[in-house]
Amino acid sequence: MINYLYQEQNWQKQLNDLIIDPLELLNLLELPKEHLLSGAILASNDFKLRVPRAFVKKMRKGDAHDPLLLQILPHHLELQEHPEFITDPLGEEAANQLPGVLHKYSSRFLLTLTGACAVHCRYCFRRHFPYQENLPKNEDWLNIKAYIEDHPLINEVILSGGDPLTLSNRKLQLWLERIESLPQIKILRIHSRVPIVIPNRVDEELISLLKNSRLRIIVVVHSNHASELDDYTCNKLAALSFEHITVLNQAVFLKGVNDNAQTLINLSHRLFEARVMPYYLHVLDKVKGAQHFDVISSEINHIYQEVLANLPGYLVPKLVREIAGEKNKTPLFGVSTF
Ligand code: SF4
Repeated sequence: MINYLYQEQNWQKQLNDLIIDPLELLNLLELPKEHLLSGAILASNDFKLRVPRAFVKKMRKGDAHDPLLLQILPHHLELQEHPEFITDPLGEEAANQLPGVLHKYSSRFLLTLTGACAVHCRYCFRRHFPYQENLPKNEDWLNIKAYIEDHPLINEVILSGGDPLTLSNRKLQLWLERIESLPQIKILRIHSRVPIVIPNRVDEELISLLKNSRLRIIVVVHSNHASELDDYTCNKLAALSFEHITVLNQAVFLKGVNDNAQTLINLSHRLFEARVMPYYLHVLDKVKGAQHFDVISSEINHIYQEVLANLPGYLVPKLVREIAGEKNKTPLFGVSTF
């Protein structure tokens, strides 16, 4: 049933009622089942389809090229081998210091509290990440605390994916209190796609939790196309900034989804309407199974040039690539090949 009012259903119910069957998804979108070649089912076994109904509702029925659908529908091309596309393109295994801790940059580190996401994005660079071996348990907190205290340059903790906003507010509060207890931590960043795919996740309790923290809170959402941002979603995002929570967006440059200038310009304008500032535009991380989303660097440069020429600077996301082992993300504009 796709035509229910997703605005009225609480987020936990939506999270427990994800679409996981590709055939059900095609049926809801009035697409023929032949659209799924047999390899797509195999790809789905490898990295399951997961998509909230609220997100499916933003897709166009009968359009096999809908840019939201392309991001989440398993594809037979995911099974193709390519020497440059590997399981750990960002070298995260080497940065995995303790269960749940990824320390790549000097002033900040990532805490992955869950392996679960509300949606499975087919291009996700963590699609092969061994979350199960890496989730911190309550008793790991003392080790994490000691690690932070041993690294006095760390002043920011990033809760990252799996998606931290799939956790209950109670569990988030527990970790927030732990992090707040460390005087050296000034900023908490939350990387999440849930407010885009289940906007009701931005509930009163969450807002209250974040706005009452002593930490400066930054929520970094992930939206790749303006069609993801209907009025309801925009209002939910704006509700965070009305409470002085900084909201940024990161997008990924994806073939067939947003690989033209006008689409990216529309995305920036729509984000701004939602009081969200464009932050990063990532070149695709070369993860195994995502090669069909790759756009060649000369084309990216050409498109980005047009974006620069048509947006005020404050609406232009930084074009970057993450390179394993580097001390920061690498800015790319003006680099002829990358
Ligand atoms: S929500 Fe983020 S972490 Fe989860 S699959 Fe999508 S890109 Fe990956």
